[in-house]
Amino acid sequence: MKKKIIIKYGELTTKKENIGLFLKMLKKNISFTLKEEEVEILYDSGRMFLSCEENQFEKVLNKLKTVFGIHEMFIGYEIDSIEMENIKQSIKELIQKKNFHTFKIETKRSNKKYELTSPEINQELGAYVLKNKEDVKVDVHNPDIIIHVEIRLQKSYLYFEKEKGLGGYPVGTLGKGLLMLSGGIDSPMAGYLTMKRGVKLEAIYFESPPHTSMEAKKKVEELARKLSLYNQEIKLHVVKFTDIQEAIYKNIPHEYLVTIMRRMMYRIAEKISRQENCKIIVNGESIGQVASQTLTSINAINSVVKIPVIRPLACFDKLEIIALAKKVGTYETSILPYEDCCTIFVPLHPVINPDIGKCEEYETLIPYEKLIQESIKNHEIIKITNQEKKFEDIL
Ligand code: ATP
Ligand code: MG
Repeated sequence: MKKKIIIKYGELTTKKENIGLFLKMLKKNISFTLKEEEVEILYDSGRMFLSCEENQFEKVLNKLKTVFGIHEMFIGYEIDSIEMENIKQSIKELIQKKNFHTFKIETKRSNKKYELTSPEINQELGAYVLKNKEDVKVDVHNPDIIIHVEIRLQKSYLYFEKEKGLGGYPVGTLGKGLLMLSGGIDSPMAGYLTMKRGVKLEAIYFESPPHTSMEAKKKVEELARKLSLYNQEIKLHVVKFTDIQEAIYKNIPHEYLVTIMRRMMYRIAEKISRQENCKIIVNGESIGQVASQTLTSINAINSVVKIPVIRPLACFDKLEIIALAKKVGTYETSILPYEDCCTIFVPLHPVINPDIGKCEEYETLIPYEKLIQESIKNHEIIKITNQEKKFEDIL
C-alpha cells in the first residue's frame, strides 16, 4: 500500500472537452503552491494523486486548502491491484490501528467492468470487517467511521476522512481581470470570489498623497499579499489620483464629487485593463451600500466604460461580506484605521440619483483626459507574492 493525497475535482468534471486545460492549470497551480515541498503529482480525468514524505502530509494538505479547483481531498491508500483478496488484506491492516465501534463501507466503482457491483462489494467487505475486528457493528446512518473503497481500472484505493477544498475553477483558466482594490472590507472579498471562478487578478489602487498616508498604501499591499496566496503573484498598479481629485474638488459642485471621482477611476481602470489584457474590471460595489452604489449611481458611473464590470458582492449584505472576510483572513487588515482617498473627499450630501448629463457638463470644467494620461504614464507597479511577511515587517 502506498499512502497518497487524492484530490477530487468536483465542478471541473462538467468541462467535457476542455477538461485537459483545466487539469493542466490545476496541476501547475498546485505545483506552485507546493514549490517548497517535495511532491510528485500524477493525474487523470477523475483524480489527482500526490505523493510526499510521511511527515509532510499535514503540511501539504493545509497548503492545498488555498488552491481553487479542488473540490475534496483525502489521505488515501493505493493498492496495486483490484483483487478482492488484496483489498481485504489492506483493510485488515488499516482497521487494526483504528478505534471504532460502528462502521459503514462505501464503494465507488469507476471500473464498470468489475465483476461485483458496488452494493455487492459493500456487503462482502462489511462481512469481512465484522469477522476481523472485535466488537464492531454496521451502522449505515451514523457510523463512527466510513471505509471508502474506490475501484479503478488497475488500482484500488482506501480512505477514511474527506476534507473540503475551496471548490471553483483553477485560477488562470478563465483569463485575467483587474480588481479595484481599496483598503476596505469589500474589495478583497470581491477579488476572492472572482479568483474562485478561475480568473487571475491584477489589482489597481488609487492613492492621493499627501491626503492619504503611506500606511494606507501598505495596508493595500498587505491585502494584495493575502490575496496572492490564491493567485501566485499580484501585479498591483498604484495610480496617483491627487491631481485629478484636487481638480474635481476645486471645480465641480461637491454633491457630484464622488460620482465624478468614480467615473475617473473607472476610465483609468479600463485603460490599464486594456494594456494588461484584463478582460473585466472587478470591484466591491454592493447595491445600495452607499450613495455611489444606488442603481442610478451605478448607471452614471458605469456609463463611461465599455469593458464589463463584475461586482461579485452586488447582492451581499455587509454582514455576509464581513463573515467571509473573517473566514478568508483579510478582515483584521481591512479594519485598520487608515484613510482612503474616497473617504477624504466625501461631501456631506453626495447625490443619490446623479444625472449623466450633469456629470458630462461638469467634467468639461477639468482637463481630465490629460490628467488621466499622466496618471497612467507615471503609475507604479508593485509585484506582490505571498512571502511569510507580516504587515509590521513591511511598514
Ligand atoms: P468598505 O468595505 O468600507 O465599503 P470599499 O473598499 O468597499 O470599502 P467603497 O467606497 O464602498 O469602499 O468603494 C466601492 C468599491 O470601489 C470598492 O470596493 C473598490 O473596489 C473600489 N474602490 C474604492 N476606493 C478605491 C481606491 N482607492 N482604489 C481602488 N479601488 C477603490
Ligand atoms: Mg464598499
